Amino acid sequence: MRAVYLDNNATTPVEPRVLEAMLPYYREHFGNAASRNHRYGWIAEEAVDKAREQVAKVIGASSKEIIWTSGATEGNNTAILGVARMYAEKGKHMVTCKIEHKAVIDPCKFLETQGYEVTWLDPDQTGCVSVDQVRDAIREDTILVSLMFANNEIGTIHPIPEIGSLCKEKGVLFHTDATQAFGKIPIDVEAMGIDLLTMSAHKIYGPKGAGAVYVRRRKPRVRLQPIIYGGGHERGIRSGTLNVPGVVGCGAAAEIALQEMPTESVRIARLRDRLWAGLNEQLSDITMNGHPEHRLPNTLNVSFLYIEGESLMMGISDIAVSSGSACTSASLEPSYVLKGLGLGEDLAHSSIRFSLGRFTTQEDIDYTIDQVVEAVNHLREMSPLYEMAQAGVDPSTAEWQRH
Ligand SMILES: *Cc1c(COP(=O)(O)O)cnc(C)c1O
Repeated sequence: MRAVYLDNNATTPVEPRVLEAMLPYYREHFGNAASRNHRYGWIAEEAVDKAREQVAKVIGASSKEIIWTSGATEGNNTAILGVARMYAEKGKHMVTCKIEHKAVIDPCKFLETQGYEVTWLDPDQTGCVSVDQVRDAIREDTILVSLMFANNEIGTIHPIPEIGSLCKEKGVLFHTDATQAFGKIPIDVEAMGIDLLTMSAHKIYGPKGAGAVYVRRRKPRVRLQPIIYGGGHERGIRSGTLNVPGVVGCGAAAEIALQEMPTESVRIARLRDRLWAGLNEQLSDITMNGHPEHRLPNTLNVSFLYIEGESLMMGISDIAVSSGSACTSASLEPSYVLKGLGLGEDLAHSSIRFSLGRFTTQEDIDYTIDQVVEAVNHLREMSPLYEMAQAGVDPSTAEWQRH
């Protein structure tokens, strides 16, 4: 038996080259990057500056526009709450989408309890929000549009440049949670009209607990009210002693991702397509969720009709994937993302996300195809839903129950 990791959208292993870059900053170079009076501090500060350049380069930003955070959850909170508080006098309306990551949804929901109004756009069946939907949602008092670059569950990529230029035209700030897109597909904050952007190191083979938010400094100069107060680090936007090894790892991971993007994105997309082709060839009644083209190279989300994602995951227990049924709670509520696409409960319940990565091999994919086909066939043989369907009953009318 072998173990296959296809849950790279949840997290990635730290790449050996990244760990090598980090280790000296745990050992001899342990200084505080804010210590201005001695060598220990200077060495740490120099490393932090280099990492800032490395992250900035991936998105065509200037290193002065990079603010270190503990990851994308903090980055999204920093951007959304920061804009809300800073621009409250200009307006209290924001636009976002129903299938954003919780790290965008929850701060927006919090703002709704604080007198702000949020327009929650409905994506289409592929997970896309259109420029026209955003245009229709923008009002006189709109201060922020926050839409993710690429969706973590289905991989769908939004029309970011078009939304960015609309926001410029309307004078509204544009934030994008680019956690899944950063380092995987090309991003240019200038060409795409992005004012704020969130990334996280652990999704790109860097360490957990490190990340950054890009904050535009000119045309326009974006100002944020901090959510953390203290020593005034990071232009006063994010106080606190920097996690220097984490920051160094984030920078190294960003540089490698940028270098390898042209070859890796092609290699990984081929493997993803091989996985889909293999499954589709051998199994009936499966559907692909998300956009067929405008999609991350590494993400494949599939609904296997008549079986439950959770049961399928148990059937392929040496392959790490994630399912569209909530694994975070005891309930069998299907994923809000898949429900948000307008998929029926049955399709949402039966979905599996395969997210490939830098260490995925063709052998991994071929093994996965075999295992999934076997498990699906086995489960369908036992499935009352499958039996009902064969007998001509519509399974979508069946009730899902806790067991
Ligand atoms: C993983 C993820 C986050 C959260 O990032 P953390 O660094 O783990 O806090 C936010 N948004 C998206 C799209 C993600 O995939």
